[in-house]
Amino acid sequence: MKLLFASTSVGPLGTGQGGGVELTLLNMVLALQPRGYEIQILAPCGSRLPVPAAIEEIPGALQVPAQHQRRDQPIVMPSNSVLANLWARVRQLQQGYDLIVNFAYDWLPFYLTPWLSRPVAHLVSMASISEVMDQAIATVIDQYPGSIGVYTRTQAATFPFGDRCVCLGSGLDLSLYEFCADPDDVLCWLGRIAPEKGLEDAVAAANVTRTPLKIMGQMQDVDYWQRIQAQYPDAPIEYLGFLPTQQMQAHLRRCKALLLTSRWVEAFGNVVIESLACGVPVIAYDRGGPSEIVRHGQTGFLVTPDSVPDLISALGQIEQIRRSACRQQAEQEYSLKAYGDVVERWLKDVYYRDAPKV
Ligand code: UDP
Repeated sequence: MKLLFASTSVGPLGTGQGGGVELTLLNMVLALQPRGYEIQILAPCGSRLPVPAAIEEIPGALQVPAQHQRRDQPIVMPSNSVLANLWARVRQLQQGYDLIVNFAYDWLPFYLTPWLSRPVAHLVSMASISEVMDQAIATVIDQYPGSIGVYTRTQAATFPFGDRCVCLGSGLDLSLYEFCADPDDVLCWLGRIAPEKGLEDAVAAANVTRTPLKIMGQMQDVDYWQRIQAQYPDAPIEYLGFLPTQQMQAHLRRCKALLLTSRWVEAFGNVVIESLACGVPVIAYDRGGPSEIVRHGQTGFLVTPDSVPDLISALGQIEQIRRSACRQQAEQEYSLKAYGDVVERWLKDVYYRDAPKV
């Protein structure tokens, strides 16, 4: 099967601007290419993947991330939009492919779906955050049942049509994440530096417990970061930047826990399984995707959302978690093989259901 991947339009692949969906796209490539799928990726200029892959770079202005807009915000397109350019290119190339896979959480690809001659599988990478997006996805799911893939049931449940989404989970090339049995007295926080990620709560917990906190991730909101630093001037925190997986996991695996303090309904939380793959327990707010991943008391703790005292009390019990159980969960549930099986089933289903449409 020949697949045309249409990437996220909020940033070039490899920069972290697209968040976890960048890793998901890479993992689909890693899972599907060895199974004989031919994949062509269309992505904003400057996109890079750490493995050999065919990327056509598309010029144009980036889209504003949907999570930084109001729920009732109308759709806004910049002039010379990379999203519009990318889907114009999809239309030109589509005849040479069996299936188009959309990774953009944007209105346009959903609106265009019935106008294309090839079937489209849409990976919806966030929970419901925009009314106009909810409507656009609902229209597609009515016409093309089975074509909407999500990460978790919890994410799906935020949409009015959630019970009709296909739950794909996620998976990793586990060989890239090294197990560490003997951590330092250090905590980790991973993610885009943006308000919906709630970094300030992890910093508050590090400050109270005087445990060093390593922060890694794309700097999306500098004002937000500066406000946190001003609020906790003496917190033992260190920002290491947005690091490639190899370097990121080298820091992560030496930490005694990952703190996940998201304010929003996290669709999945790729960082949770990356952490487990290194043998690092996860202390997460009990909301969104992480609630479906972390096994409370076995591979981490799920605590009351937005409660710093609960984060701190979970930290006090972290020695109870066997790090080998964390790695084991990643191996059993989040391997690239298991993920490839699920994704392959989904794509074939979309193809056989929708291929005849012209
Ligand atoms: N990440 C990374 N290097 C870093 C910090 C984070 O590559 O230094 C990646 C991480 O691997 C994950 C993504 O950033 O894939 C964050 O995705 P997640 O699903 O946790 O949240 P999102 O940003 O999509 O809300």
